[in-house]
Amino acid sequence: MKIAVIGTGYVGLVTGTCLAETGNEVICVDIDEAKVAKMQQGEVPIYEPHLDVLFERNIKANRLQFTTSLDEGLAHGNIIFLALPTPEDEDGSADLSYVLNVSQEIGKKIGSYKVIVDKSTVPVGTAEKVTAVIKENAKCDFDVVSNPEFLREGFAVDDFLKPERIIIGSSSDRATALMQKLYAPFVRSGNPVIVMDEKSAELTKYAANSFLATKITFMNEIANYCEKVGADVDKVRVGMGTDSRIGKRFLFPGIGYGGSCFPKDVKALQKAGKDQGYDFKILDSVITVNKKQKTIQIPKIVSHFNNNLIGKKIAIWGLAFKPETDDIREAPSIDVMNALLDKGVSLTVFDPEAMPNIEKQFGSKLTYATSMYHALEGADALIICTEWSIFRSPSFIKVKELLKEPVIFDGRNLYQLEEMETEGFTYISIGRKEIG
Ligand code: NAD
Repeated sequence: MKIAVIGTGYVGLVTGTCLAETGNEVICVDIDEAKVAKMQQGEVPIYEPHLDVLFERNIKANRLQFTTSLDEGLAHGNIIFLALPTPEDEDGSADLSYVLNVSQEIGKKIGSYKVIVDKSTVPVGTAEKVTAVIKENAKCDFDVVSNPEFLREGFAVDDFLKPERIIIGSSSDRATALMQKLYAPFVRSGNPVIVMDEKSAELTKYAANSFLATKITFMNEIANYCEKVGADVDKVRVGMGTDSRIGKRFLFPGIGYGGSCFPKDVKALQKAGKDQGYDFKILDSVITVNKKQKTIQIPKIVSHFNNNLIGKKIAIWGLAFKPETDDIREAPSIDVMNALLDKGVSLTVFDPEAMPNIEKQFGSKLTYATSMYHALEGADALIICTEWSIFRSPSFIKVKELLKEPVIFDGRNLYQLEEMETEGFTYISIGRKEIG
């Protein structure tokens, strides 16, 4: 099939590349000229495991192209994916201007039947709005489908190629049949393609993300309570998680969720509720607790250094909002670093992939280490903000040698308490006994 993907970010590029991988001819459109120029030269503009191999293969096979021209994309594609940003607006709602502006252009430009597929995360009622905006100018038939995306950054390619489910929100049999055909190669193992109305599809995405954010936040509150009463959250987590009604995943406590999705999606659902006179009380709490959780380690750091952080040098491992991505949007590391910079700390940071993005934001306020160990040289303490695999089994001998004092504030509970005790560290993690 002939596909156009409008918006070539984390979702759009993965969607375009994976659809090309199953034999479709794909054009990806983006307004960012520098990004498109890079992709035209064969360069993947983001870090996402396995994407480079598929990207290269499909460009070589002429199934994957890039352009800044919406006209070119629309002339090529019969199915038009919208993978555009829906950032948080000032009032917390999802900013639909990208989606609606492009939809208006689509209405003016299409001359034959197209299926417009909304892959962006959008509030209930957006498919209706997109339909209305296109209808203002369209001189041909078209259908709008809501097809929310559930991929996880860091696993995006695997998630797209082997989705647990595909959601298709559509009231058109013609469009639904086309979508089912397009996705058939991805669900051969029997995972479901669930067809529903557009509004339910739109809400499914917000409900899923808000539920996951709630699950994380609930566990963070249990961790905070563990610290008060001397329980160990890791033991509680394992005990709870073996109940199949609860499940083992998303129960890991830490310094809060971040990223380009959970924070804005939870807020957008909260605001959408308010607009309908409905108060999502759970979401109010999730937002408040998560904001506080991001800097939950700061008072412990302040107290460890007897209220005097001026002139201290601290190392940070992990800047991305989670491992296996270079994405730093709403990353807890940012809150941690801002709080410490305000207190006069000098920070040396290391992340395997996210350093360039952090450098764009923080510039010369930070020192950028060339390796995880380099970051530790002469530091008064280490803080771990992201659970990259390479931080899981460091040489503790080396860590101790390089740090001025063997002090670790672990925001992701990477190490065993017994090991930290044996190695002689002061070790302060989340929801567990302090060592040292
Ligand atoms: P992104 O910011 O990485 O990418 C968006 C791209 O759209 C950018 O490259 C930008 O230059 C481009 N763009 C902006 N205006 C444009 C226009 N007028 N024409 C063409 N291109 C334009 O965003 P993302 O993370 O890929 O997210 C896109 C949508 O998917 C959002 O609604 C997001 O909530 C949703 N989503 C994201 C994820 C994720 O993990 N990132 C997962 C599921 C859903």
